[in-house]
Amino acid sequence: MPEIKITHSNQSRISEVDFNNIPFGRICTDHMASADFIDGKWTNFEIRPVEPLSLHPTNMTLHYGQAIFEGMKASKAVDGTPMLMRPELHAQRFNASAVRMCMPEFPEDMFVDMIYKLVSIDRAWIPPISGSSMYIRPFMIAMDENVGVRASSNYKFMVLTLPAGPYYGRPISLTTSTEHVRAVDGGVGEAKCAGNYAASLYPATLANKRGFDQVLWLDAHEFKYIQEVGTMNIFFVIGNKVITPATSGSILKGITRRNMIEILKVEKGIEVEERALSIDEVMAAHADGTLKEVFGSGTAALVANVNRIAHDGNVMELDPDNFEISLYLKAKINGLRDGTIEDTYGWMTPITEAVMA
Ligand SMILES: *Cc1c(COP(=O)(O)O)cnc(C)c1O
Repeated sequence: MPEIKITHSNQSRISEVDFNNIPFGRICTDHMASADFIDGKWTNFEIRPVEPLSLHPTNMTLHYGQAIFEGMKASKAVDGTPMLMRPELHAQRFNASAVRMCMPEFPEDMFVDMIYKLVSIDRAWIPPISGSSMYIRPFMIAMDENVGVRASSNYKFMVLTLPAGPYYGRPISLTTSTEHVRAVDGGVGEAKCAGNYAASLYPATLANKRGFDQVLWLDAHEFKYIQEVGTMNIFFVIGNKVITPATSGSILKGITRRNMIEILKVEKGIEVEERALSIDEVMAAHADGTLKEVFGSGTAALVANVNRIAHDGNVMELDPDNFEISLYLKAKINGLRDGTIEDTYGWMTPITEAVMA
């Protein structure tokens, strides 16, 4: 593997941070990782102090939006060792996004290795408070300077890390939209690209104005089949079954979603159906009392219980205090993350000297 040039910061900013009150998303740790795609290959692998980027106004990302990202978390085991959960899946998904956006793939072993080293260098930034973590944001942008539409030739890969306090998620309310869609088959819904978020903001503000936290996206052909929520996949417990929409082209393939499906199959022996699920089926289940739980899954929140879903003038109320499966999944994954539950899956990578050698 290519060498990573490491430059340590002269002075840590860590003493400026109140770990009991971290404004999520605004404070980076001391260091960042970066690499450049120049003349057809990745080069300049580096870890150095966080500093602003300097971009010419003709930078193509600013005009045509070739920008992809990942989101993952480093947790801390009870003995203080930083741990990552299935980083290789994030590396693979990053490259799937890159291919769709006509960007170069990043070597998966380097993706993981740079994150190991960055997390290790800034390990003191994982708050020593239960449930805290370090949010890891790998991303890639176009770097050509050209106001003319084509794929860029040069790119920059970067990884930022940000301390994150415990996520005390209150239940969320959702409304479908029968006017806007997030993604369409054949589009870019499966790519973790910046533009998907830009496109979702306006419908989200309309939902907020109507008193709902987020949009429950429906399919783009019939406004009938459930897709996902802004930053999360979604699960429904109907009777004894757990149902989640199949990732058939327009839904982001969540890694939390995948982990939950595997855990439920192995540990609870529960039948998990990945299939088309219509909003009508959910409303019918609510009407006959078999809709037991609805919850979102994603790296940031892990599990977000849903207490209300509006669709087409109807409102379904749910009582998250009675949710059992979501509670179980949350405890299980948190236990794997802090090492209090034995990792029988082989999902966790403790970041020790050995893993970095
Ligand atoms: C990242 C993301 C998710 C959740 O994926 P995880 O791998 O579980 O974090 C779900 N939906 C969208 C649109 C996303 O961008």
